[in-house]
Amino acid sequence: MEKINTETGFTGQLRYDEPMAGHTTFKVGGPADVWVRPQGDCFPEYAASLLGIARSEGIPVFILGAGANLVVSDQGIRGIVLDTSAWAGCDFFPDNGAVLIRSGTVVDDAVSAAAGQDWGGLEFLAGMPGSIGGALWMNARCYEKSVSDVLLETTIIDESWNQVRLPFNAADYGYKKSPFQGRTVLILSACFTLHKRPRLAIRRDMEAYCRDRESKGHYRFPSAGSAFKNNRAFGKPTGKLIDELGLRGLIVGGAAVAPWHGNIIINTGIATATDIRVLVELIMKKTKAALGLVLEPELLFVGDWEDKTFIREP
Ligand SMILES: Cc1cc2nc3c(=O)[nH]c(=O)nc-3n(C[C@H](O)[C@H](O)[C@H](O)COP(=O)(O)OP(=O)(O)OC[C@H]3O[C@@H](n4cnc5c(N)ncnc54)[C@H](O)[C@@H]3O)c2cc1C
Repeated sequence: MEKINTETGFTGQLRYDEPMAGHTTFKVGGPADVWVRPQGDCFPEYAASLLGIARSEGIPVFILGAGANLVVSDQGIRGIVLDTSAWAGCDFFPDNGAVLIRSGTVVDDAVSAAAGQDWGGLEFLAGMPGSIGGALWMNARCYEKSVSDVLLETTIIDESWNQVRLPFNAADYGYKKSPFQGRTVLILSACFTLHKRPRLAIRRDMEAYCRDRESKGHYRFPSAGSAFKNNRAFGKPTGKLIDELGLRGLIVGGAAVAPWHGNIIINTGIATATDIRVLVELIMKKTKAALGLVLEPELLFVGDWEDKTFIREP
């Protein structure tokens, strides 16, 4: 690990050929050419200059939250991975019933910090792996509530490397859809609306959500949560469709459809990213053949894949 100390005082960590398996909940993924994790209050300035230099040099930059929704290629990621995890923390604004959360904050830490000050509103996210930036980018949804339901404003670094405040606009958000998808912006922070609630009641709900996730086997094996999006037009949850086709337990190499849940793909311990991708494609093929339905992966396939079908470019 290398400490960077530039003349402008930026600090952080930088590694070459950093295995991404250590930065994803699936525990797969080859090396990033460069992995950089800026630390300290200069994060926005450092990130803006890094994005600017990389763009002018034609170097791709992938922004990493907590890696909880990713399948990184076994070949890794070309260019720079900008890790946001050190840009963390919450500022409460009691007069406005709002909290500003920096994008790298672990979702559970944000929910707990709010509970500690008797602020409710984020409980539905308890137990979901990920960062606030990733949850916003994905417009994560748990227990019938989406992140956009409590969002007031986002601050981003836009494509021209300016810091821009974006007030919440409901038309920009939908089921697992946010205005950041399809753009190359860095989410710096977001403000959420909260309401006063006794911390014991908040903690009771948080524990109930975590217990429910545990009982559904969310943490039994490395995974990235739901493999496929739901689609109202299918008439039932995707997991149920996959169950009814008898695909639970289907295995490709070290990747398997969880024997207890049709919409969770697990790493049994020896999975490669390719195993996961082949399994996803196999499930899609079987669902299309049996039901005529085209499933849409919720997992994000990123990095250096030969076949670019459903790959998100950084
Ligand atoms: C056990 C388990 C259970 C899960 N349950 C749920 C669930 O109930 N509901 C749900 O919706 N999801 C669920 N997930 C998936 C995952 O937790 C969410 O999608 C989460 O929001 C991903 O956040 P992340 O920080 O890990 O993002 P990452 O996986 O690191 O990145 C996801 C995307 O966001 C982008 N991104 C991340 N941070 C930023 C930023 N600061 N600026 C710009 N772009 C950024 C990345 O570039 C990438 O495109 C689950 C996952 C696991 C492992």
